[in-house]
Amino acid sequence: MITYKEAYNSVLKNTTSWGLETVHITASTNRILATDVFADRDFPPFHRATKDGIAINFKAIQKGETTFPIEGITSAGSPQMTLKNTQNCIEIMTGAVLPENTDTVIMYEETEIENGKAFIRKKPEIGQNIHRKGSDEKQGDLLLKAPLKITSAEIGVLASVGISEVSVFKNPKAVIISTGNELVEVNQTPLPHQIRKSNSYSLLALLEAEKIEADLMHLIDEPEIIKKKLSEALKTNDVLLLSGGVSKGKYDYIPQILNELGVEKVFHFVLQQPGKPFWFGIHPTLKTFIFSFPGNPVSTFANYHIYFKDWFAACFGLKKTAFEAILAEDISGSETLTKFIKVKTYFESGQLFAEAIPENGSGDLTSLSRSDGFVKIDPGKGKVLKGTRVSFIPTRKII
Ligand code: AMP
Ligand code: MG
Repeated sequence: MITYKEAYNSVLKNTTSWGLETVHITASTNRILATDVFADRDFPPFHRATKDGIAINFKAIQKGETTFPIEGITSAGSPQMTLKNTQNCIEIMTGAVLPENTDTVIMYEETEIENGKAFIRKKPEIGQNIHRKGSDEKQGDLLLKAPLKITSAEIGVLASVGISEVSVFKNPKAVIISTGNELVEVNQTPLPHQIRKSNSYSLLALLEAEKIEADLMHLIDEPEIIKKKLSEALKTNDVLLLSGGVSKGKYDYIPQILNELGVEKVFHFVLQQPGKPFWFGIHPTLKTFIFSFPGNPVSTFANYHIYFKDWFAACFGLKKTAFEAILAEDISGSETLTKFIKVKTYFESGQLFAEAIPENGSGDLTSLSRSDGFVKIDPGKGKVLKGTRVSFIPTRKII
């Protein structure tokens, strides 16, 4: 059996790419930008007034002028005006182009306007209240470096440089496969010996957040049926995410059948808890990746976050974000296993603390909604003391 570290490294070593595609900007959130984005013009593209008030020529101030006849008015969206007489002023609104022959903006709050003249109450600083042309970025500057996950901030940048069709990395086509005779649909009432399939829906929600298109499939514990359906799934998908049927039980047919279908096993069983019977493999010619997680809901959920998320990011060349949390209490590790312990987190004095939540083993699905993620406790550590900084794998947004 391999260690968690070995398993993690071999998953991350086996990355791939599904090419590029173009999507409309409104569909690009959470996709991975594939080409660099440059400034198509200066940012801002002109000297922009940042206050409502009057635009003046500072030379008039140096001559001791405090009253400025108003020559005109300019607002955002109007072409640049010219101040004809530098003893005068032009009323200017936020976002407007600074008129030619002016260099300073005084806000209305510091003026009094009467009979077509603006009187200033306070001596201004030269150049104040102007967002200068090109002061954020110069034309041709690199604004977004690919690969990069597109969030609302990037959407704003893309829009401002006029990119409505965004070049992104293609996501894999995935199928989520539940296994087991005991499972019934969400809308069914289970008999006393049955349970509803929950893994399929939590995985679907996780993939949806990554904008990965996924179908749902169910396999009953019948080797012939499993083989037929898996053979089809391998051909029509890039990624298979299975839950259940990979342990040592009499009806855990998945590893054997994947093997018969020509999938190459990378590993099976990892020295970790939960999620030990994890099976990972690749079909060498179809290039289909198979993440076959043990069926216990906590195991499936943990392994998705431990392995799949980082693998998916690595497929685009994205760097892994490593989080740490400080233990708020002592936590017991294991001699041989890497333990992933469900925790609730909180911030105190700007630091993230984690405390284990009461749980009832890896079948305890409801505890997932009370936790914010897992802390990783390395093997052979015995008891890890309160105050120790440990690796933290978030399973939800914590800020
Ligand atoms: P298995 O890995 O197939 O031995 O399943 C381990 C445990 O997880 C069993 O109690 C299953 O009933 C349960 N389980 C398997 N698949 C799912 C699923 N899709 N949703 C909820 N529980 C599941
Ligand atoms: Mg099963």
